[in-house]
Amino acid sequence: MSAGAPRLLDRALRDWEPTQVLRGSLDDAHALLSSVHSAAVLTGAGVSTASGVPDYRGPRAQRGRPIQYQQFIADAESRRRYWARAYQGWAAMGHADPNPTHLALARWEQLSWPCSLTGLITQNVDGLHRQAGSQEVVELHGRIHEVVCLDCGQLTDREEMQQRMAAANPGLGTGLAVGHPEIRPDGDAVVERWADFVVPPCLACGGRLKPNVVYFGEPVPRERVARCREWVDRSEALVVAGSSLSVMSGLRFVRQAAARGIPVVIVNQGATRGDEWATIRLDAPVQQVLPALAGLRPVDD
Ligand SMILES: [Zn+2]
Repeated sequence: MSAGAPRLLDRALRDWEPTQVLRGSLDDAHALLSSVHSAAVLTGAGVSTASGVPDYRGPRAQRGRPIQYQQFIADAESRRRYWARAYQGWAAMGHADPNPTHLALARWEQLSWPCSLTGLITQNVDGLHRQAGSQEVVELHGRIHEVVCLDCGQLTDREEMQQRMAAANPGLGTGLAVGHPEIRPDGDAVVERWADFVVPPCLACGGRLKPNVVYFGEPVPRERVARCREWVDRSEALVVAGSSLSVMSGLRFVRQAAARGIPVVIVNQGATRGDEWATIRLDAPVQQVLPALAGLRPVDD
């Protein structure tokens, strides 16, 4: 856990609001998870908004379309524009800290309370679950902290790419702070002057570099999905936190759980595409519910 954890937790508890219950209660959720041996957890963008990483599709979704995979692969100008924006948006992604939800899930895994945590599936690319201490994590959509070469497959560190871009583009600033409204969750940011931006090539082969994240229109690697499916198969419950389940990459695990007949607990502010399969459905901020479920605050407050 990071040094700022107690302070973040204090703030979350102070800001506690009554949970809006759609189906079942926080007590019910806690009782359910205490009654099973194991649960898998799926998290989405809503888990990271309290860390200043903005949400694509939630209530505060930003304007602008995310970049498409085929366009990025085929078009040098698209790659130039992406990297120019990502260069400026990196300050927000690079400096975000885990919040009480990340810490609660790390504690859940460590203490196996209220039940053992089979594995943590996340749709987020910000790396905050690992930073908070979670071990069994599948980052379904990849990691923004890595760069992959589309031509030779070499993986390199995103921070190193940042330094190479700075060296190749002297005089271009990176002044955006965490939570800046023009920054999107994939580290993309909205900048207007990108036509002259110089994108460094792969150091190994001179090829095209891409952040190691799954773009819209790009399939999630099969082995990642298989590992998550195996976790859901071994679990007696599935918890969804902070996801509207608007993409199939997450929704399929809810369907899998429902097909197996295991209970599904969904905690999210706003409607989700998985609501019809939810055994318990809490419409509430995840950073207040998850710490309660993991024993970081009393359930009956
Ligand atoms: Zn290469």
